[in-house]
Amino acid sequence: MFKKILIANRGEIAVRVIRACKEMGVETVAVYSTADADALHVALADEAYCIGGPRPQESYLNEEAILTCAVASGAAAIHPGYGFLSENASFARKCRECGLVFIGPSPEVIERMGDKDAARRCARDAGVPIVPGCDLLANPEEAVQEATRIGCPVLIKARAGGGGRGIRRVERPEDAGSAFMEAKLEAEAAFGDGECYMEKFVHPAHHVEVQILADAHGGVVALGERECSVQRRNQKLLEESPAPCLEGRDDIRDHMYRAACDLARAVGYVGAGTIEYLYADDGSFYFMEMNTRLQVEHPVTEFVTDVDLVKWQLRVAAGARLPFCQDDIHITKHAIECRINAEDAQFRPSCGTVRMLHVPNGPWVRFDSALYPGAVVPPYYDSMLGKLIVCSPTREEAIRKMRSALSELMVEGVQENSDLQLDILANPEFLSGTYHTNLMEHLYES
Ligand code: ADP
Ligand code: ADP
Ligand code: MG
Repeated sequence: MFKKILIANRGEIAVRVIRACKEMGVETVAVYSTADADALHVALADEAYCIGGPRPQESYLNEEAILTCAVASGAAAIHPGYGFLSENASFARKCRECGLVFIGPSPEVIERMGDKDAARRCARDAGVPIVPGCDLLANPEEAVQEATRIGCPVLIKARAGGGGRGIRRVERPEDAGSAFMEAKLEAEAAFGDGECYMEKFVHPAHHVEVQILADAHGGVVALGERECSVQRRNQKLLEESPAPCLEGRDDIRDHMYRAACDLARAVGYVGAGTIEYLYADDGSFYFMEMNTRLQVEHPVTEFVTDVDLVKWQLRVAAGARLPFCQDDIHITKHAIECRINAEDAQFRPSCGTVRMLHVPNGPWVRFDSALYPGAVVPPYYDSMLGKLIVCSPTREEAIRKMRSALSELMVEGVQENSDLQLDILANPEFLSGTYHTNLMEHLYES
């Protein structure tokens, strides 16, 4: 095992990784921006270094500063968390050049899967069903032609997209040209890469994703699935496992797991990763993308499988073999996660200083966050304050448990979305378990 690692992230995920390291006897190095001098991850790490100004480019995306800190502090590996540098192949390559282990798959795998258009072809070649669509679009005219051929509605998607950005829905072929230009510009600004492809808009559909874990010796397991169909603007709000839409469909579930593991094997995947699918009620499913990193919603899987994903990321990165196989994974519980975002009722980001904080507690209640009374929520980063996760023997009980936990959560000084989460948990469509990715649109209509 590594003696010391550097955590190239902030907020709840940096805290999550530091805690795992402490339990494993691994020393930790935190890096932080000038806006995060009083942040929890800085206080919890064994060593901490300020690497630049508040803007991500100056600090959490400042590759040179991070690599310098890692080498100078004697760290053996870097954990990138999610977001920031976690899916940056060139950073993973630089780690390798500096003699550091990047805790994640190889730069080659990140490169292949990070390009969503190339990943589609890779999935197809591994025998995984993909959404009808086309390869990269050259110009607006081609977008119109392809929208006509594929049949509207379609989505124009940036190959470098992430976090729900760089996606445009097209209802009529004649609108595809302008939508293509919009998606391209948004993707250029957000990811520095404006290349886009097109997919049939599958609806109504469920977002179902499979968590995989792979070692460097050919061992691959699927650690169950998560349903992430509660989304606003293609961004996840609430996740649960098992997926209610797969209730009684073990045949499909097994097929999804096998396809995910086949793809992981085909590309030589090592580490924790997620294969995202769209699932339609007729039983068909399609590959959407692969996230080559730890996922925000990983605690849902940890609760139902009793597997600590962060610890296993470290172990397989250090060369360990997975001691369990697919037959050892039995899921008999139900877990739900609510993302607690710093935003007002109009979804505008909220920031400030946390004046008062009460965090729900009790058996099988987990609150992953970097909050404490007096903590500052700066305006420069993602608006997620934390994640509330609960686990129960049944979905019904998990929903009641989440309601109870949410109603206990109190944050003063920064606005948060727990009332919205309570509305979702009271929605009849959500309660029935038959909801699709358009649930939030329905919630606002009612
Ligand atoms: P998950 O699939 O884990 O739920 P999200 O798509 O919600 O992932 O993204 C996780 C985090 O990473 C969010 O904070 C999001 O803003 C950020 N993120 C995702 N993709 C990118 C990207 N390509 N560039 C920058 N940040 C990203
Ligand atoms: P990101 O990298 O931003 O997470 P994804 O490709 O995972 O992008 O898509 C984000 C969300 O957009 C999905 O969870 C799903 O709700 C919706 N989506 C993406 N592709 C399609 C599609 N072809 N049909 C219907 N919905 C889609
Ligand atoms: Mg996605």
